[in-house]
Amino acid sequence: MRGVLWLSVLALGAAQAQLADRPLMVEARVPKAPTVATGASGGVLTYEVWLTNLEQRELKWTRLEVLDARGGTLQVLADTALWRDLSRPGQGTIGMADRPRLGPQQRAVLFLRGPITGEAPRELRHRLTIVDSVGTRTLTMRPVAVAHDAVVIGPPLRGGNWYVANGPSNTSGHRRAQIPVDGVPAIAQRFAIDYVILDSAFKTFRGDSSKNESYYAEDQDALAVADGIVVATKDSIPENVPGINSRAVPITLETVGGNHVILDIGSGRFAFYAHLRPGSLRVKVGDRVRRGAVVGKVGNSGNSTEPHLHFHISDGNSPLGSEGLPYLHDQFELVGTCKAFGAGCAAQAPVTRRRLLPVDNEVIRFPK
Ligand SMILES: [Zn+2]
Repeated sequence: MRGVLWLSVLALGAAQAQLADRPLMVEARVPKAPTVATGASGGVLTYEVWLTNLEQRELKWTRLEVLDARGGTLQVLADTALWRDLSRPGQGTIGMADRPRLGPQQRAVLFLRGPITGEAPRELRHRLTIVDSVGTRTLTMRPVAVAHDAVVIGPPLRGGNWYVANGPSNTSGHRRAQIPVDGVPAIAQRFAIDYVILDSAFKTFRGDSSKNESYYAEDQDALAVADGIVVATKDSIPENVPGINSRAVPITLETVGGNHVILDIGSGRFAFYAHLRPGSLRVKVGDRVRRGAVVGKVGNSGNSTEPHLHFHISDGNSPLGSEGLPYLHDQFELVGTCKAFGAGCAAQAPVTRRRLLPVDNEVIRFPK
């Protein structure tokens, strides 16, 4: 009996040694390589790391090091700092401590927004630390190339004061909206902005809040941000009555952007203008437009609670089935900031910003 027990312990020890020696069975990848974006506080890299467990036992992701090509450390996220920005596709909202624990065939998505100090790297390396019943192991992922060609564009709107709602950050609803279209999950809205106009009291409307006409953004001109070709349009979706749940049509992949225009601005970049007023489109598919041309009027159609312009740039002719790319506006003025939508707002003396991506909660003014 004693001998059998001794043998089985020995066998278990051998099995553990074998497990520790072979490569960890995971899929770790960056689905969309980042492009450097420049905001008011400097360069940032906004992208995701996917980790999928292909082992037959639970793994726990405890640490991520982001390194440049020379091995210099750019960012370290460990434990709660890592888990805070993890999501678990298909598993709904789960507690922070459970997010890094991946059962067999489960995936975690890490939303990264890493600041760049000094020169932006050409390449990123990622070293993951993963703990399981066998021990603690590190995995170095294949290098990821960094693009440096964020497009410089003109204004999508005139004047101001435009509030940058759900704008570039690591936590906005746009940023976290990973949506599978035709079987491919993508984040078209990674750098999207919902623009509304604020008055001096930081309100978006005057008078009756149930009427679209009461909102300052309603019927404003949406402008071509660059020379381009119109590659998609949608019109004739009625406007919603302003409100959280008052959609005029059922919201599907077809109607979510409401009346919209997609402009091919070249080099694999597509500008998307959503929620326009029905009947306001000034362009049709195939039209060549010049920078500054009116493409339509801001409205409240599709998945929208009040008149606003949803604007983003992505890498494909599809509102949501494409990957969001950063862009830099050649000029705007920063005139204030808010803590949240219509809350904690403060005006400031205008500061001219050049070749920057607006950031979530800024209040900005475009040239008239
Ligand atoms: Zn939006």
